[in-house]
Amino acid sequence: MRCILSVDVEDWYHILDVPGAPEPSEWEGLPARVEVGMRKILEVLAVSQMRATFFFLGWIAERHPNLVAEVQRCGHEIASHGYLHELAYRMTPEQFLEDALRSKRILEDLTGEPVLGFRASGFSLTEATPWFFDKLLEAGFGYDSSLFPASRQHGGMKVHMRAPYKVTSSPHCFYEFPISVVDILGKPLCLFGGGYLRLFPYRLIRRMAQNVLDEGRPVVFYVHPREFDPEHPRLRMPLARRFKSYVNLKSTQSKLRNLLSDFEITSFADFIRVELGEEAIV
Ligand SMILES: [Zn+2]
Repeated sequence: MRCILSVDVEDWYHILDVPGAPEPSEWEGLPARVEVGMRKILEVLAVSQMRATFFFLGWIAERHPNLVAEVQRCGHEIASHGYLHELAYRMTPEQFLEDALRSKRILEDLTGEPVLGFRASGFSLTEATPWFFDKLLEAGFGYDSSLFPASRQHGGMKVHMRAPYKVTSSPHCFYEFPISVVDILGKPLCLFGGGYLRLFPYRLIRRMAQNVLDEGRPVVFYVHPREFDPEHPRLRMPLARRFKSYVNLKSTQSKLRNLLSDFEITSFADFIRVELGEEAIV
């Protein structure tokens, strides 16, 4: 079974729940760094000749259409990370639908291709968003990867769904890909993205990824462009949070390189088509 690599395409100031983080109205005036990290990710992928899924924030896609074009040209999948990086549980169902649709249309206009995948900011699919999948179906998406089956600062749900599953079979086919977790000392933990991927030694990550594969599940890895750009400006935040956000930034590139040489990795769309044998939605 192959693994899946996802990139949430956003900038250095799109970190959630940080008091004093810039408001959307201020984003325009901040230095844009997203291309720096993206270049490195695309370089590493080009060497390995593997494909990934890029969940673009609609706001970023509008301002960096060249980046969307480059990702498409390299043969990767383009998917949506919403428009304004709002947490799903802080929106009404109508606002959520509008935000998701807005990003989908921008990306489809830029690529000329249907956008099937969605990831909510901060994995904010929770008990407070029972309408989540209905709205994504209404918007015309074919899969989602926002379920974080462990507790976390924002988002996260204590559920037992760990493998990709079909949310509904009719009238559309729709898949959910939970973020991969492994049990460590009896607690579900994700070592395959964000701070843990940067913090833990590669050997441990590789062993845990192999455990997930041995259980018959794909590993869903996730990274952000800012994690490949150690020189990006820092946001002011409490010490513990700062550690989690900025620890080991220099290690991300080599870890990704190692992952791509040790595992066979692809995009969600490709996984759905090849591993799940589902032609209809992809
Ligand atoms: Zn995000």
